[in-house]
Amino acid sequence: MSQLLRGLPEGLVFVLSAPAGTGKTTLVRMLQKEFSCVITESISYTTRKIRPQEIAGRDYHFVSVDEFKKMIAQDDFIEHAIVFGSYYGTSRKFLESQRKSGKHVFLVIDTQGALQLQEKLDAIFIFLSPPSMDILKERLYARKTEDEHVIQERLLAAKREMKQIPFYDYHIVNDQLDTAYQILRSIVIAEEHRVRS
Ligand code: ADP
Ligand code: 5GP
Repeated sequence: MSQLLRGLPEGLVFVLSAPAGTGKTTLVRMLQKEFSCVITESISYTTRKIRPQEIAGRDYHFVSVDEFKKMIAQDDFIEHAIVFGSYYGTSRKFLESQRKSGKHVFLVIDTQGALQLQEKLDAIFIFLSPPSMDILKERLYARKTEDEHVIQERLLAAKREMKQIPFYDYHIVNDQLDTAYQILRSIVIAEEHRVRS
């Protein structure tokens, strides 16, 4: 296990939000690769369709709208929201079991979900933004996972989401990937060593 991060008796929760295409999946995967024993990502539930490169149970738990609504009624989600017309939610049970195992858990969720959690969860809130809207557009096109009208919709949402930056504890601009990664890992390392809360 890395000397820089050891985990804690009860793991920390990091909430990471960023406009689609900014690089949050890339950065969290880098952290998981470096600190595989102590960093885990919460696997959300969603009603959106699975994309070609995705694996059910690894990227998301893909469920029907009826199943999702049943889970809401059972209070299975610590937060949930409708994002781009589909439901997304974080499992309360999964989050707690991971924390109790001493791992730090990353919730990669939208700003609506993050704001819900600010009132009920002791977590570290990080916002990742693209260096510019033009670069965000380029990354969305380069990823080739959405078509034109979806990309336009996501760019509009990005402007709306960036207005929420003041509600987060940290703000990272993902310009050079390595620099953004060094900042993110520094935050995680510092938070694990924090004494006063
Ligand atoms: P998100 O999870 O925020 O939607 P991704 O991690 O899928 O975004 O990244 C979107 C695209 O941008 C991917 O093709 C990824 O390889 C690329 N990317 C991520 N960070 C950078 C960066 N700093 N510079 C250039 N390309 C990047
Ligand atoms: P995508 O479908 O492109 O993976 O994600 C679309 C958006 O939904 C992203 O902003 C992502 O962070 C957000 N999202 C993913 N899982 C959750 C979740 O469990 N809750 C909330 N509120 N948003 C989520």
